[in-house]
Amino acid sequence: MTGQVRNVIIIGSGPAGYTAGLYNARAMLNPLMFGGYMSGGQLMLTSDVENFPGYPEGIGGPEMMMQLRQQAERFGLEVQDRNVEKIDASSRPFKVWSEGEEFQAHSLIICTGAEAIWLGVEGEAEQKGRGISTCATCDGAFFRDQEIIVIGGGDSAMEEATFLTRFASKVTLIHRRDVFKASQVMYDRAANHPKIEIKTFRSVTKWLSDDSGLTGAILEDPRDGSTEEIAVTGAFIAIGHKPITSFLEGQLETDDEGYLVHKELTMTSVPGIFAAGDVVDTRYRQAITAAGLGCQAAIDAERWLEDTQH
Ligand code: NDP
Repeated sequence: MTGQVRNVIIIGSGPAGYTAGLYNARAMLNPLMFGGYMSGGQLMLTSDVENFPGYPEGIGGPEMMMQLRQQAERFGLEVQDRNVEKIDASSRPFKVWSEGEEFQAHSLIICTGAEAIWLGVEGEAEQKGRGISTCATCDGAFFRDQEIIVIGGGDSAMEEATFLTRFASKVTLIHRRDVFKASQVMYDRAANHPKIEIKTFRSVTKWLSDDSGLTGAILEDPRDGSTEEIAVTGAFIAIGHKPITSFLEGQLETDDEGYLVHKELTMTSVPGIFAAGDVVDTRYRQAITAAGLGCQAAIDAERWLEDTQH
């Protein structure tokens, strides 16, 4: 085991994790955070955050995460930019392994968030990270003056499509039905953009490629099964996310989709283990709600530690 038994170990470093870290650090709990190799979470992949109160002009996702981290570190949050491989929740203190090293804590706060879902259709695996991406802010610049497609009908797809107009000559947004989950303001922004064409009732059934990379896709109309081919050299999949919980190896109760469940306030099925952010939130999934849950989990952990006299 490395070091002393900590009061709190926070796993994950998005807005939920940093807010939990800020609160626990200010409560003098000396928290340790495992932030992951790519610390900061999904907001590191977001261009502009316009809906977090307090930023009238908006703020870049990575900049916001840097500020949250600095704020928490100012009060003593210790952040290690490495992943957690597994935990042992069967007895207390809880055990956490990172890069093979064992750490122990009286309580844990899980804030590991969610990761992008891929379509999983023929030809995708070969083009992942080449012609097909799930992150416009990471890979958009590779597609300057090219024709690309974005798949999805939620806010992510609208945001990606709009952002990608900075680089692409044309963006075709493909959605499997004609009802959009996206908010009206984000839908309108995409729909009214001169470089964006929206095609509804289309699903990608196969990616096409040659030695040069992605060349197109076969699109199917789910209503009658008819197909058409679209020629594109880039594709961005924005069809949602799935929670990052596999490292927990089923030790904490989840719902059918793998999201952790709250049993009492922010506590999971194991007393002393709390969860916050997208790993538990199937409904709101916003930076502001993740931060709010991080605050709640930190306060719940603090009170639980007091009550159990740690
Ligand atoms: P959503 O769950 O909102 O939307 C996913 C979209 O992908 C839906 O249109 C869905 O279609 C479609 N889809 C799902 N599976 C498939 C599939 N296998 N094939 C084709 N299409 C599929 O996810 P988002 O990532 O867009 O948004 C998640 C949350 O994050 C939301 O709460 C959103 O508001 C928020 N968000 C906010 C942003 C902002 O405010 N700046 C930016 C990005 C996200 P169908 O509708 O048919 O189910």
